[in-house]
Amino acid sequence: MRATPFCEFASAVRGEARVKEGPERYNGARTMQVLKYYRYQDRSIPAMITFKKMRTMTMRYDAEKEMLKVSVPRFTTGSKVDAFVMEHLPRLLARVKKKASPYDGKYLYVLGKPVEVGEIDEEQVEKILKKTALEYLPTRVAELEALMGVNPPYKVRVRKMKRTLGSNSRKTRTLTFQVRLFAFVPEIVDSVIVHELAHHFAFDHSDKFYAVVYRYCPDYATLRKKLIHDRYAG
Ligand SMILES: [Zn+2]
Repeated sequence: MRATPFCEFASAVRGEARVKEGPERYNGARTMQVLKYYRYQDRSIPAMITFKKMRTMTMRYDAEKEMLKVSVPRFTTGSKVDAFVMEHLPRLLARVKKKASPYDGKYLYVLGKPVEVGEIDEEQVEKILKKTALEYLPTRVAELEALMGVNPPYKVRVRKMKRTLGSNSRKTRTLTFQVRLFAFVPEIVDSVIVHELAHHFAFDHSDKFYAVVYRYCPDYATLRKKLIHDRYAG
């Protein structure tokens, strides 16, 4: 299989995509992959487009990788692909975007347990979760570091982040976690901590990286699914 990835920005407004035609056209290989970006509601959405032997175009959203996976028959032109993507993108994203809040107006999930907090605003929700995070993280990260052999220890930070649950800066030796994460049960929180600590050994999402993750978090796949589907209680 030969893959020819390259990047190109497609500007798409109200279902109309403007892209140059040509390079993304099927180039004679058995399958060809092209990475494109579609602009939609101020977001740039990556799409991996696979040209292969098939009859109809299909598209799905990979929630974990946060990208579109589009499969199209060989010889499909770029403009046809764009038209297809733009037609189906809004409905597809509307289905994905519905994030269930950990707070229902009375109860707030805190480490997977519903706690009665009454009527509070978004800021107070964050405050409670952040406080929880700062109580939970130092000990738990230290325990997992000892278990995984991560040395010297990392500093931890909790931030309100839009699309990231956690990050690892090896340069500053800091792990940063998303505040909303601490609405989830500890096992789910731990799966994210293990993920970030595993980046200490591999700074990508390679097989080597996942070998470390699964060694310390055998239920990773299940926990990840629960995380994506906002299953706060697990
Ligand atoms: Zn990662």
